[in-house]
Amino acid sequence: MIVKPKIRGFICITSHPDGCAANVQEQIDYVKSQPKVENGPKSVLVIGSSAGYGLASRIVPAFSSGANTLGLFFEKPGTEKRTGSAGWYNTAAFEKAATEEGLFAKSLNGDAFSHDLKKQAIDIIQKEMGKIDLVVYSLASPRRTDPDTGETYSSVLKTTGGDYTNKTLNTDKGEVSEVTIGAATEEEIENTIKVMGGEDWELWMNALADADVLADGVKTVAYSYIGPELTWPIYTDGTIGQAKKDLEKSCSKLNDKLSALNGEAYVSVNKALVTQASSAIPVVPLYISILYKEMKAKGLHEGCIEQIQRLFSDRLYSGDPQLDDASRIRIDDWEMRDDIQAAVAESWKKISNENFTDLADFQGYQDEFLRLFGFGIDGVDYEAETDPETAPASLA
Ligand code: NAD
Repeated sequence: MIVKPKIRGFICITSHPDGCAANVQEQIDYVKSQPKVENGPKSVLVIGSSAGYGLASRIVPAFSSGANTLGLFFEKPGTEKRTGSAGWYNTAAFEKAATEEGLFAKSLNGDAFSHDLKKQAIDIIQKEMGKIDLVVYSLASPRRTDPDTGETYSSVLKTTGGDYTNKTLNTDKGEVSEVTIGAATEEEIENTIKVMGGEDWELWMNALADADVLADGVKTVAYSYIGPELTWPIYTDGTIGQAKKDLEKSCSKLNDKLSALNGEAYVSVNKALVTQASSAIPVVPLYISILYKEMKAKGLHEGCIEQIQRLFSDRLYSGDPQLDDASRIRIDDWEMRDDIQAAVAESWKKISNENFTDLADFQGYQDEFLRLFGFGIDGVDYEAETDPETAPASLA
């Protein structure tokens, strides 16, 4: 099959198996070019491992400290006639590369919120991995079915105050316009917390602890975002921000629970980056495009893999995680630098449909968006046949 991008709104409904493989290989090459993470983890569970921050969190321990990994995700396999989702092909490439290095790499495709997937994961850990010394929780999902009640909750991206109007970027049409985001109801706030808050992270850690598969000194980390004041109404003070506050509460409970194992739980606040999850948030893609321009100009730009390499080498395994006053790891430190944020705020005031290609790195945004699906990657022949039935070896 010859595969071309087909973009619908903020997703691309095709993905390129060889392009995804090349993207994963670039990340592996980056990690190998960096100094090894001293005392890095050896046996890692990544929940949400097929794309974005979770994929990078699987690549770094595998190729920096030789970790065996179990990765969990919710992706669509390809068929003879239709391509699968990018995360499916990313995982195929990851497993191949890890196995070639003699590393254990298995994956489970299913609903991480369910009891069943937790049972399956624990079974593999018990039979094939021994104890886990790092659990990365990197899910981004629009809905969650409560595993006990069977009720399904949907998250919303709304404010928790009144209406909020600001500039936004229609990434499909390449237009800057205004968007008004309405306030969430109490129920919508609660539902968003149910989906993206810490409950499921706690359920995972409790299930793993009860099954006695956590190693002494285990670490666990989940990801959050804060960003500048201009996005607070939609992010930090919005529904998703309430869920992230809940994640922090869970982190504190997990620290109490894990102390019996000399374990540690962290919330890491990461940089705003183009991923499938972030491209769905209003206002944020315009902010990201301006941010990229400023960070690239100052040589500070990082992608998921650079962020996670720094998280492991300079924070999680450095002996000093450099927590902020709310006990969070901050690898959004370069994004939040005063000079970067002052420059972004200045451009934000001026940006319009007429000047946004000058004030923002929209080309960079679009290129990175396409790369998520394996398109626009050097060295890949997009006119050549590729196999849509490419699959992770452990799931083939
Ligand atoms: P992503 O969309 O790239 O990846 C999400 C992952 O979750 C994928 O592996 C997907 O398969 C998996 N997933 C979704 N629903 C699932 C389910 N029901 N069962 C199993 N797996 C499921 O997302 P991302 O942007 O890397 O986000 C990961 C985390 O990082 C989120 O908590 C997000 O809030 C946080 N974060 C993102 C950014 C950003 O700018 N992208 C910044 C800071 C923090």
